[in-house]
Amino acid sequence: MSSTLALIFIGVAVLFILGIKFLSSPKTARYGNLLAAAGMVVAFFATIPLMQLHEWNLNCTLMAVGIVIGLVIGAIGAYSVKMTAMPQMVAAFNGLGGGSAALVASLEFLRRSHSLEGVAVSAAVPMLFATLIGSLSFSGSIIAFLKLEGKFERPHTFPGQNFLNGLVLLVIRGLGGWLTFNASGSNSATAFVVMFVLALAFGVAMVMPIGGADMPVVISLLNSFTGLAVAGDGFVINNLSMIVAGTLVGSSGTLLTLLMCKAMNRPVTNVLFGAFGSGGGSQAAAGGVAGTVKPIQADEAALLLSYAQRVVIVPGYGMAVAQAQHSVRELSDELGKRGVEVQFAIHPVAGRMPGHMNVLLAEANVPYDQLQEMEAINPSMDRVDVCLVIGANDVVNPAAREEKSSPIYGMPIIEADHAKTVIVMKRSMAKGFAGIENHLFYKDNTRMLFGDAKASLNALVAAVKAS
Ligand code: NDP
Repeated sequence: MSSTLALIFIGVAVLFILGIKFLSSPKTARYGNLLAAAGMVVAFFATIPLMQLHEWNLNCTLMAVGIVIGLVIGAIGAYSVKMTAMPQMVAAFNGLGGGSAALVASLEFLRRSHSLEGVAVSAAVPMLFATLIGSLSFSGSIIAFLKLEGKFERPHTFPGQNFLNGLVLLVIRGLGGWLTFNASGSNSATAFVVMFVLALAFGVAMVMPIGGADMPVVISLLNSFTGLAVAGDGFVINNLSMIVAGTLVGSSGTLLTLLMCKAMNRPVTNVLFGAFGSGGGSQAAAGGVAGTVKPIQADEAALLLSYAQRVVIVPGYGMAVAQAQHSVRELSDELGKRGVEVQFAIHPVAGRMPGHMNVLLAEANVPYDQLQEMEAINPSMDRVDVCLVIGANDVVNPAAREEKSSPIYGMPIIEADHAKTVIVMKRSMAKGFAGIENHLFYKDNTRMLFGDAKASLNALVAAVKAS
């Protein structure tokens, strides 16, 4: 690689790192996204002279067709996807990334193993690694996508499943080990194809037992796999920017997975092997909740809000479904005009993807200084006059604190029940993502405002204006 190209790739790495840095705050996130995308464009065009240096026979027409198809699919997908379907889109794109990484490594392995060039052990390791990790990320992401789309959402388990998965993994490792030292052997192509197919099957087998509820965590994990596969490809085709980008995706995906598990107070092994959502613990928590459900109408709720000094709004998945973020902003502004202090309490796993609520509230231009992290707001929740829970359920469920047998016991929650009055907005008594009863709905200080969150919020805004 020429020193100019090396310098360009270092510049690209800086753009990627700055992009991630800026993504860590809602204020700078858009800018970070643009920087990282610019880095990707530069990396892409810098790769073409790199391929010429390798004297590869480039089919420019085919490349141009591929670029146009990719651009069109990416742009249509990005513009048309609903915010609630974002995890599916990430799963689909991640799967494509993993599949591409696997193909690059596979083709390079098969090409070199049947040429005079041969495959040295040092080259075989990243090739086989990228093939394995990329293909399991591909098939695993497809299953994750389908589960998020509501197909076979529940965990699919059978006796001896972990043993069978372990056995498949052992065979894959055996074949990988053999191929490392026998890349040019007479049966190497057959062994390679068998290993490839088994890796695809392992991706399916790994994700099928996991409940739909845990898919965002799984996607984050698979995302880190894709990153590592891309980094492996970078070693295979000697592309510095792929090594850097892949490593960044691999490490940030791993960190995100761990952070999500921490926010749910569950170890990664419990997510991968716990079959959460299969109904085991949910039933125990479903019965025997003490207290009665007390409905409230919008007019009465508006009075409580208008005469409060401090209101905390807890948004959840239902706000995203109802697309109620603009109505929430309107309500917050109306209350602000009346001198009510309004804050938003954000739980790290509210909604269906990390930062889901931040993105929606930013879209509605809710000022960032009104947003409070769970740890920051919890100590003062007992000084809140009205806590307005909008389509949130699990993230405010006191069972996480009070009921040892609950599947979410130990998960940190926003202590909405500590407020003087709690108004919960949802359409019915239906359960949340974890499939368990919510003790909050039955507490003495809780009132239920039933209905679609957007319609209820619009009614509240009208009633606050009229009061
Ligand atoms: P939940 O899924 O617990 O609850 C959402 C509630 O929204 C439901 O009870 C539903 O009740 C209500 N709802 C749905 N549509 C509407 C509507 N149109 N109007 C009003 N209400 C509506 O959401 P939370 O945000 O509280 O919790 C997130 C869950 O997702 C947690 O269990 C978390 O662990 C999990 N999770 C989150 C991840 C993340 O990264 N954010 C990742 C992995 C898991 P009803 O049908 O009665 O209206």
